[in-house]
Amino acid sequence: MAFEGLTERLQNAMKRLRGKGKVSDADLRDTMREIRLALLEADVNFDVVKDFVKTVRERAVGAKVLEGLNPAQQIVKIVDEELTKTMGESAVPLNKSAKIPTIIMMVGLQGAGKTTTAGKLANHLKTDENARPLMIAADVYRPAAIDQLVTVGQQIDVPVFEMGTDTNPVEIVRQGLAQAEENHNDYVFIDTAGRLQIDEQLMNELAQIKDLAHPDEIMLVVDAMTGQNAVATAQGFNDKLDVTGVILTKLDGDTRGGAALSIRAVTGKPIKFVGEGEKMSDLDVFHPDRMASRILG
Ligand code: GDP
Repeated sequence: MAFEGLTERLQNAMKRLRGKGKVSDADLRDTMREIRLALLEADVNFDVVKDFVKTVRERAVGAKVLEGLNPAQQIVKIVDEELTKTMGESAVPLNKSAKIPTIIMMVGLQGAGKTTTAGKLANHLKTDENARPLMIAADVYRPAAIDQLVTVGQQIDVPVFEMGTDTNPVEIVRQGLAQAEENHNDYVFIDTAGRLQIDEQLMNELAQIKDLAHPDEIMLVVDAMTGQNAVATAQGFNDKLDVTGVILTKLDGDTRGGAALSIRAVTGKPIKFVGEGEKMSDLDVFHPDRMASRILG
């Protein structure tokens, strides 16, 4: 289960304060040390942890909660609020174009869940808004990627524009956009190629697609299971493409929490959705407050 270790350790860190009418400096120091270790062990970015612990400590001292009626509860509340803030405060909606189509470019490393998530998001918009999306298959390096997008399209009854693997991806996107225009699709998803790691050629190709398509949303898909690597990936893509949003996948797995808690703070870019399974319906809007409650258990 996601965050299991982190939840347990945070609860234990705060349990020591329970029942105390007054909390000593030493109690607070021990609690904060345990919170710090819990976050580091969950693979949260070092600077994020440092800032987090500092803020929680300052608030606890400043609010004089240590002398209050129920210090434990008050510290839990502060931790909850600061976890929420670290993840972005409130849900950030999808960017939409004033005139159709809204163009959503999906980027990310191979295996992160781009293709699956493009389908999930298209399906979400179809169900929610009666939208008529088109998906463009622009990953020409893996023939299986095109087949996979076509299969996803069939599953959710969304058309897929593809030109096989012999055409330049930028040209495929150009023609796909023309088709969307002709068919009055209200959303266009561009499923781009991924690599096992970030490389120059991939980034240049994505930059070319961005220049051509002027996407309303450049959605970075990252695998939550990869912790700090997910954060490094996010930074790499963001530096080159200035992404507009992040989707965190595989939160149904045994993820520790590092990616969810670090990405917003490190990149400044909001997590907009989370993937919680392999089915097309397994996509949720990301609510930082609900995620904080979930982490706290
Ligand atoms: P891409 O290479 O980035 O396009 O990644 P895919 O969309 O092919 O996904 C890679 C694998 O991850 C597939 O087996 C997906 O079913 C799986 N996957 C994607 N999102 C999730 C998720 O939220 N939860 C789980 N458990 N699996 C996922």
